This record gives sequence, structure tokens and C-alpha cells, in this order.
Amino acid sequence: MKLLPSIPRSNPESPCLTFAPLAWLKIQFFCHAGDTEIGGFGISSEQNLLYIEDFVTVRQRVTPFTVQFDDEAVADFFDQCVDQGLRPEQFSRIWCHTHPGASVTPSSIDEATFARCFGCCDWSLMFILGRTARTYARLAFAAGPGGQIALPTHVDWSVWPEFTKATLIDHELEGWRKEHAANIHIRPASLGDLVLPIGQAATGEAEWWDGFPWHPELDAITYKPTNGDSSREPADRNPAPRA
Ligand SMILES: [Zn+2]
Repeated sequence: MKLLPSIPRSNPESPCLTFAPLAWLKIQFFCHAGDTEIGGFGISSEQNLLYIEDFVTVRQRVTPFTVQFDDEAVADFFDQCVDQGLRPEQFSRIWCHTHPGASVTPSSIDEATFARCFGCCDWSLMFILGRTARTYARLAFAAGPGGQIALPTHVDWSVWPEFTKATLIDHELEGWRKEHAANIHIRPASLGDLVLPIGQAATGEAEWWDGFPWHPELDAITYKPTNGDSSREPADRNPAPRA
């Protein structure tokens, strides 16, 4: 995870979701790396929670229309963020996923997942990136009467020269390739009907959120497959994780 808090922030007059250049390039990389959806968390700047410093994936099973995070991987990711001194609102409120086509309209299951998993947070955001540069960002508030607002998406290219001084792009790209290989695993379409959403595992074993009594809102975050048919079944570029 690469945070560069010293970089100046753009200050748009109206609220918008802003990606730091490397975070934007990284989610674009994942969006185009294979013919599946890919999910992850947006890491917010400490100074501006709508400024995404990084996009981070966790180990997950994917199809062209579904994503399922590994429970342990989510727990490890949250642990890492806490160890780095991040506050929960910096790493657990912005749910990003990609669509391997032009549409960025949330599916009915996207909507149900967002409501169920993030509805208890005082605020949360669903972001979707498609392959034609279209984006979808919706900020939701649970406090008071609640409410939702669509936000435009912006990339803070003004700081790009600073990033290019501070980082070696080849090194970043290699890191993204390794992260993709480690985390993104294609689920055979034939098993799609057998998938249980996180939180409904048939094993009866403790779930990852049982280990997070320190922040109740984290207990509610789960991730469920998104909707769609299974007419396309891409080849798995990455070997399956060890059981
Ligand atoms: Zn979706």
C-alpha cells in the first residue's frame, strides 16, 4: 500500500470522488487485466476521505459477473491497515469494483450488497469502473434521515509530476502484476451456483469479523457475488490459492 500524504490535494468546488494518479492507473490495470469483475477497497487520504490514495485488492474468487472476497484475506487487510495507523473510515468505507464491459450500472445484487454490508456505516461509497472509462460513484449516508448522492469522479493529474519523481512506474507495474497473480482467482462458472456469500459459509467456523470487536461497523462488512449470467468463462490466469 503506497500512501503519499505530502502530495498537495486538488480542491474542487463541488464534492467529487478523486483518485490519485497511481490509484487510478492501478484500478484501470485490474479492470483490463482479465475478463472478470475485480473488487477492492479504496484507501482514503487522512485529510480528505473522498480522495483515494490507493486501490487495494484482497484474495478473491471472480467471474465475469461476480466477486467473492476471502474472509481471512479481508481480516488480514484490515489488520494491516490498523497496524499502519489508518482509521476504519480510511479503508473500510469505499467499495470499488470493476465491470469487464461498458456498463457501470450497479446490478441488483450490487445494490443489495451495498445496502447490507455498508448500510450500517455513517457513510460509505460504491464505485464502479467499466472498460470504456465510464464510472459510477454513489455516496450514501446512514446518519439522521439518511440519503444518497451521485458523485462525479475526478483524477488528480495535477500531482502526476510529483508521483513520477517519487516512484518508478515499472516497479509499481510489477507490484500490480504480483498482486493480481496472488489475489485474483477465476471461479469456474459451473461452480457459480454453489457459491455462498461471505457470512453464510456452510462450515460453521468463526467468521473474520468475529475478531474485530474494536470497531462494530467492521463486523457488518461482507462481500457478495454480483449478478449476471455465466455465458462467458475466461481462463484462469492465476493458479488457485492454497486451500
Ligand atoms: Zn457490479
